[in-house]
Amino acid sequence: MTERLPWHQEPWVRLQRSRQQNRLPHALLLAGAEGLGKLAFARRLARSMLCEQPDEHGDACGRCRQCLLLQAGSHPDLRLVSPDEDSSVIRIDAIRDLVSGNTLSVGENGHRVFIIEPAHAMGPGAANALLKTLEEPIPGTLMLLVSSSPERLPVTIRSRCQLLRFSPPEQNMALSWLQESGLSPADAREALGLAAGAPLLAQKRVADGALQQHRALKEDFLSLARGQARPVTVAEAWLKQEDLEPLLVFLSAWIMEVIRRRQVQGEQLSPLQSQHDGVDLKALYRLLDSLHDIRRASANNLNAQLALESILLEWSHITRG
Ligand SMILES: [Zn+2]
Repeated sequence: MTERLPWHQEPWVRLQRSRQQNRLPHALLLAGAEGLGKLAFARRLARSMLCEQPDEHGDACGRCRQCLLLQAGSHPDLRLVSPDEDSSVIRIDAIRDLVSGNTLSVGENGHRVFIIEPAHAMGPGAANALLKTLEEPIPGTLMLLVSSSPERLPVTIRSRCQLLRFSPPEQNMALSWLQESGLSPADAREALGLAAGAPLLAQKRVADGALQQHRALKEDFLSLARGQARPVTVAEAWLKQEDLEPLLVFLSAWIMEVIRRRQVQGEQLSPLQSQHDGVDLKALYRLLDSLHDIRRASANNLNAQLALESILLEWSHITRG
């Protein structure tokens, strides 16, 4: 029932130990990049708190009355607050409604869990409404704030929660988990690179067709290097499919990969091998600098077509001597 993500093992054990010693804080801020399973962790913890007979790992038993209520999605003591479907903001009323329930007695099993996700979607009003409850915690109530941008939360909120930070797992752990979920080693590696090391995001990107798109972009990039395509045409085609920023991110990653391969003596290069042999490392670094300049400038009304064209033209020049 509970998916136990391997990179959650360490924080899970730590929290369960605190729980056994009655040192579990009343509010936790689960912070870290997208795609690390923070919400899944919060739900697992909530189930664990509400279950009548957790197993030896602290996980919910899946059989007791509380667990059955949880599975039916109708447990009165677990509340999840998120923005409404058509909004990116958590309403003040939603938080007021949540915390006013606090004046009632504690839940069925002596526990109540509130999850706020994403917590940074609370505006100043909603955050204020939550603050009082964070300052005067109600016994038995655990608040779980989940956020990929904790810096967007008011300091007053952050300072009243214990921080639980999630980082991307070690690469080998992430790769084997992705392979167990059905990806080939090559796809797993490529997807993980596209997701900055976050396994669940990598999985999502694969499902969204990001690998094919990534490969198509690479193919165009190689065509430019072979002189089989024109920068103007490629830039136009790319911008029809994608915004400038993700394209620049892709290009930076690709150039860094080319540089890395250039530096590794004797490594076989992909279809580009012959061209790359002649590519000047300094020119590649200059190209990387140009990319960073454009990314910095792209906040100010940049002409995307011209910017992308200039990069592709530079690439085409350095790869074709
Ligand atoms: Zn149970």
